[in-house]
Amino acid sequence: MTESTYRIHGDTGEWEVVIGLEVHAQVTTQAKLFSGAPTAFGAEPNTQVSLVDAAMPGMLPVPNRECIRQAVRTGMALGAVINKWSRFDRKNYFYADLPQGYQISQLYHPLVGEGAIDVQLDEKDPESPTKTIGIERIHVEQDAGKLMHDQHPTRSYVDLNRSGVALMEIVSRPDMRSPQEAGAYLSKLRSILRYVGSCDGNMDQGSMRADVNVSVRKPGGELGTRTETKNVNSVRFVMQAIESEAQRQVEVIESGGRIVQETRLFDPDKGETRSMRSKEDAHDYRYFPDPDLLPLELDDAFLDECKASLPELPDAKRRRYEGDLGLTAYNAAVLTADADTARWFEALLAESARVQKKGEPEVARAAANWLISDLFGALNRLGKSIDTSPVSPEEGAELLALIADGTISNTIGKQVFEIMLETGDTPGKIVEEKGLKQTSDTGAIEKVIADIMAANEDKVVEYRGGKDKLFGFFVGQTMKAMQGKANPQVVNELLKKALG
Ligand code: ADP
Ligand code: MG
Repeated sequence: MTESTYRIHGDTGEWEVVIGLEVHAQVTTQAKLFSGAPTAFGAEPNTQVSLVDAAMPGMLPVPNRECIRQAVRTGMALGAVINKWSRFDRKNYFYADLPQGYQISQLYHPLVGEGAIDVQLDEKDPESPTKTIGIERIHVEQDAGKLMHDQHPTRSYVDLNRSGVALMEIVSRPDMRSPQEAGAYLSKLRSILRYVGSCDGNMDQGSMRADVNVSVRKPGGELGTRTETKNVNSVRFVMQAIESEAQRQVEVIESGGRIVQETRLFDPDKGETRSMRSKEDAHDYRYFPDPDLLPLELDDAFLDECKASLPELPDAKRRRYEGDLGLTAYNAAVLTADADTARWFEALLAESARVQKKGEPEVARAAANWLISDLFGALNRLGKSIDTSPVSPEEGAELLALIADGTISNTIGKQVFEIMLETGDTPGKIVEEKGLKQTSDTGAIEKVIADIMAANEDKVVEYRGGKDKLFGFFVGQTMKAMQGKANPQVVNELLKKALG
């Protein structure tokens, strides 16, 4: 474990930043936490609202088993304690988008207890420092609706589609010490949630958002008073919010002021936080056990099923890619950072091994290199992501097989890939129709070599006089004349013979 040494330089010396994140993650389910109403993003306002979500008198909440199951699976993926007995509490406050007048949450007995996440400061750099960030708890609660304010300042509207959607609140310990650590933690958490499939992690759609707790102190001193910046909706904004908030706190303290515990908002345009309201104490919410709901009691069969349904998680996958498949640490990190990429790579790998009749470790390196340089390059250029890739893993495997068995060269492989992207044709068809097959026909290659030597007699003399570097020139000329289709190994051998 390497400690990060992020410091803020103030007039009175160096300051350390302390960060804890509370992440709200919407549970990916068909139905809401306590009602059967659907949860799809982007529906017309107020079309996904049951009588329970609208808090009509006399309606009773019924816990949705799938929401609980997803929160338990998430806890397990974070190595956390799962509490077989937990309970829902009412958190009382008034808000126009909260028709019940209270939120059903879990304060005293959360579903999930302590866990941890291992993060790498720079995910793509396997040499960068690693750190374990503690998770305090995960509790399950209802999301609120959404207010929309008309251009006209006199009107506000409420959309209750989000009202009652299940949220997991994932609370970290105050273990982070720099914006980079917080960014790495959030990215890793999102990656794990996506692997587990319990939250889509789409921060731009609000299905994952972070409350950012920040305080400053002299290195190693007592914890300072924190502020909490609410609902920050991108990794970059979280990092910016920490940086500017820590700076602000140092300036306040150094100019003789005092930090008050308060809720703040992040303004993405200015890149800074501003005060929203002073923080009420928890008891102001008058939490009490929700009388409409029985405690949750989980049995072993349920927990066993949750455990058995977990996929291989990013850290384990990364170790396996390095250890069993022999990939470089960098390639293993890149391919496992996100679940869609890993899934695509594994499909490519399985299909490559099948068509080439080899073991996965034998085809893994070529597959990894091609995916990371050629496919990612193309996707970037086209503005697409791996799950909207115009080329399928099967087509990728077919291309790799043509290169592996010498039907086409690496260079021609890149051309074929470009044509695949343009036309959607399969690599086999393209190679056939465009006559791109690599030739080992010694007669044809020898003839080309003879022509080139005749046209470059001076260079032949120089080469024979000891200018070895010219060999590359002859290779290049031969490949060019053969339109890249000559087998490079055969060209080398024949040239050596002819020039020697
Ligand atoms: P609340 O529920 O009132 O927001 P918690 O004690 O549950 O308060 O803490 C919420 C978050 O604040 C946690 O993520 C925790 O790690 C973080 N936190 C607590 N103390 C500090 C501090 N002094 N500086 C920064 N973060 C803190
Ligand atoms: Mg809080």
